[in-house]
Amino acid sequence: MTPSPPLRVLVTGGAGFIGGHVARACVEAGHRVTVFDNLSRGRSENVPPSAELVVGDLRDYDFGKLFNGSKFDVINHHAAHMDLRESVREPVFDAEVNVTGSLRLLEAGRNAGVRRVIFASTGGAIYGEPQGHSAGEEHPTVPVSPYGVTKLAVERYLHFYRVEYGLSAVVLRYANVYGPRQDGKGEAGVVAIFLDNMLAGKAPSIHGDGQQTRDYVYVGDCVRANLAALSYPGDGIWNVGTGVEISVNRLYQELAARMNFPKPGIHDDPPPGEQRRSLLDGSKLLRDFGIQRYTPLAEGLDTTVEWFRRRG
Ligand code: NAD
Repeated sequence: MTPSPPLRVLVTGGAGFIGGHVARACVEAGHRVTVFDNLSRGRSENVPPSAELVVGDLRDYDFGKLFNGSKFDVINHHAAHMDLRESVREPVFDAEVNVTGSLRLLEAGRNAGVRRVIFASTGGAIYGEPQGHSAGEEHPTVPVSPYGVTKLAVERYLHFYRVEYGLSAVVLRYANVYGPRQDGKGEAGVVAIFLDNMLAGKAPSIHGDGQQTRDYVYVGDCVRANLAALSYPGDGIWNVGTGVEISVNRLYQELAARMNFPKPGIHDDPPPGEQRRSLLDGSKLLRDFGIQRYTPLAEGLDTTVEWFRRRG
């Protein structure tokens, strides 16, 4: 593939886990990167040194000023309130950040002539329980959490922006993402939560019987998808998921074995509405974006465990 010409990229949420990896990869690919983040969950250490960091909140930042100062080619939108269970407790806050905040950003972007938006959406929370083996992009969207509703709403707004203003959008519906630099605090990111607990010598909690399954995708695969999306000649929605489902119990065993962690997990009550299964068909992404394969779980977990061990 020929390298794409340098672009001016605004990575929102670029101080967070996935956005930080994406920002770094964009810099390494020669693009000029500005990170926008309120640092509520993100950390400035995650922002690559040569990227500019603008600290602000999606809900009230004066985006007009930012877009007038810098002519961005692409908005890569990763900033979000992304805790599904918290969204059930705080649906108004969740929508203020994820819907109204995203709209404020999109309005400023289209007024300033931005050509493309890449949006970090979700597979699991938008599809709900897969009807059939796995959920492809055509699967019915039936979110059962406020968080899933907000992500779907932004996807619909992006459709409107494309039809009305010709703003091109690539939507990436991630499965359960894991990898180095994921934050184990809070309720999202089970790999990081398990590893943080194991490193502290504490037996992690496993919700319910632990037989619920998820599709765990390595963050490096999300990065590849984002890089390809910068110059992909078209719009659309792509799942980013491996098509392999494993139970939380099995994930626990895989991590415990790598960490030499002797204690069993402690099973607690499952949160209300917890999905039993989540599995994405991510084959369209491989086909369309020329990506060879998804990182096998064993390989991704090895790299992740090594990073968490080194960090301590
Ligand atoms: P993260 O919490 O590490 O990153 C989100 C970033 O957004 C953080 O740096 C945070 O400080 C910032 N942010 C939050 N609220 C903000 C606000 N009001 N204004 C400005 N910045 C704000 O989470 P992540 O796992 O890196 O997720 C990144 C994106 O990917 C999110 O949009 C999330 O919904 C989506 N996603 C993640 C997963 C996953 O498994 N991690 C799965 C599906 C979709």
